[in-house]
Amino acid sequence: MAEETTTEAHTYPPSEQTTQYANAKADLYEQADADFEGFWADQARKYVTWGTDFDQVLDWSDAPFAKWFVGGELNVAYNCVDRHVEEGNGDRVAIHFVGEPGDERDITYAQLKDEVCKAANALSELGVSKGDAVAVYMPMIPETIIGMLACARLGAPHSVVFGGFSSDALRSRIDDCKAKVVITADAGYRRGTPSPLKPAVDKALEKADGGSVEKVLVVNRGDTDPEMKEGRDVWWHDVVDSASTEHTAENHDSEHPLFILYTSGTTGKPKGILHTSGGYLVQTAYTNSVAHDVHPGEDVYWCTADVGWITGHSYIVYGPLANGVTQVVYEGTPDSPHKGRWWEIAQNKGVTVFYTAPTAIRACMKWGDDIPAKFDLSKIRILGSVGEPINPQAWEWYREHIGHDEAPIVDTWWQTETGAIMISPLPGVTDLVPGSAQKPLPGIAVEIVDDEAKPVERGQTGLLVVTKPWPSMLRGIFGDNERYKQTYWSRFENLYFAGDGAKFDEDGNIWVLGRVDDVMNVSGHRLSTAEIESALVSHDRVAEAAVVGATDDMTGQAVVAFVILREGGASDEDQEKLVQELRGHVGNEIGPIAKPKSVMIVSELPKTRSGKIMRRLLKDVAENRDVGDTSTLTDSSVMDFIKNNLQAKK
Ligand code: ATP
Ligand code: MG
Repeated sequence: MAEETTTEAHTYPPSEQTTQYANAKADLYEQADADFEGFWADQARKYVTWGTDFDQVLDWSDAPFAKWFVGGELNVAYNCVDRHVEEGNGDRVAIHFVGEPGDERDITYAQLKDEVCKAANALSELGVSKGDAVAVYMPMIPETIIGMLACARLGAPHSVVFGGFSSDALRSRIDDCKAKVVITADAGYRRGTPSPLKPAVDKALEKADGGSVEKVLVVNRGDTDPEMKEGRDVWWHDVVDSASTEHTAENHDSEHPLFILYTSGTTGKPKGILHTSGGYLVQTAYTNSVAHDVHPGEDVYWCTADVGWITGHSYIVYGPLANGVTQVVYEGTPDSPHKGRWWEIAQNKGVTVFYTAPTAIRACMKWGDDIPAKFDLSKIRILGSVGEPINPQAWEWYREHIGHDEAPIVDTWWQTETGAIMISPLPGVTDLVPGSAQKPLPGIAVEIVDDEAKPVERGQTGLLVVTKPWPSMLRGIFGDNERYKQTYWSRFENLYFAGDGAKFDEDGNIWVLGRVDDVMNVSGHRLSTAEIESALVSHDRVAEAAVVGATDDMTGQAVVAFVILREGGASDEDQEKLVQELRGHVGNEIGPIAKPKSVMIVSELPKTRSGKIMRRLLKDVAENRDVGDTSTLTDSSVMDFIKNNLQAKK
């Protein structure tokens, strides 16, 4: 692969001020290298309060099933709430909630503690005890976080199902973990109107065979007056509001299950990932501190993810609350009622640390620079990105228009399976390279290898693997140990196979190039979708691009590109010219071999509900196949549009 596309000419060294203020110091890497287990023991005691101290850092004797902080006991909810109150920070705002219709609610740590205790008491009353699973199917409102923490307090693992999923998806997840209780709401606000949730729960339970579910706890969010089934459904305001604020947090084993969560389904059928308590909390709190650089009591942090994804679990609920951070929680979409809604909230709440996904950044680029320019974002000092590779162009846009040309950006690579950030620059320490996730965090060991598990040379594309266990690693696929071993540990002995392609540049920075399945082979050249997409996005009329390799008689695979234009679009005759220009542009940026065989201008791309491009569906279309599993797709009409358009062109 040509080097010049990825190794940008300029890097951004940290300002002296950032370096001085940052939580992370450069010697953290040396500490971790010098004594791996000692380093994690230190982080465990620094970030977490243990009811019983652990006596062994890591037990890897039953690999690939890890035990971290063996013998330790803790209560995760106590760590996220009570201890901050005990330390005198009860008056600190934990959550600045902003509802989509404009309602606002500030919740202090003292209030959060009361609410979590009440919810824990109410759930106990409903029959939930330690070890029982609870499904959570909620909009982005404070009760969602309160409910999750109440489960954690009781030692009842939760399984959060994104509120945008169908009753079928909900049902299969309820069945999988045999949930005893479902926490839901009548509705959540979506683009100005309450979008119902409760009917999907009813439908799911109608079908659930005989039913592990005994009770449904319903928050009234939208005043939609849902049907309530006698004996099964109870209102949150009836049973939680009247419950006692006294609840003793029992300590649970470090390896006690905390939650099950399904992957996004970008590459296929989602996998139910199991996470446990101690190691997960340690690494989410540590990474939130060193990578997001949050300073509790000073920063106003905002992670825009939905709690239904791992990013919401780790960086809205557990990491930030364990650290005692003040954060914004917003219910709605970024463009409701106007396209500047996020920036308006950031301005009004004085957001200082902002964490979002490339898909959102590219949408904002498409909407235009003038929109964020209307708001005062001067308090923002750290920006973060997660979920997909961020194109260098989008990175630069983010820094310039959201980070007022100053804020360091942390591009964080991790997965549902890894539980917490694994690869990321450190603000104040790392010289930033736009588009690269850069370095494994102190305490994390990764490598890029070839098919024989040999480390590849710099500049060569290989497979990203994790070479040492890490505290927040998945403890398995729920109920399927074989699939766990097969999926992650069978490709190479003793190496965790992440499924992503990557390479090191000449300076040792890591470039994640997308899924292994997405790496193309054109006339014997290995090309990465991410690089060609970034080349397309670097054209000033392109906002977003998806590239796939379609089977081709001549070249093995041919590059097929789908692009969304920035505001303004293109007329019909202009389109033809633009397509040629874009092909030429990729040729110039990367090399003639990477020139797309065809470029299609579209208005939407198929995405998972977490916002990731589903290339496998585009590939199905490009290869004239029926499209595969679309259960995690946001909008299935997008696929029809693309299919019809492609057929018309053939
Ligand atoms: P599934 O495993 O079901 O196909 P998924 O992999 O999209 O879905 P997640 O766990 O939400 O589910 O996403 C993890 C993946 O997201 C990573 O394996 C990687 O491909 C991508 N990713 C996340 N962060 C980054 C990043 N900063 N840079 C590049 N890729 C990223
Ligand atoms: Mg995955």
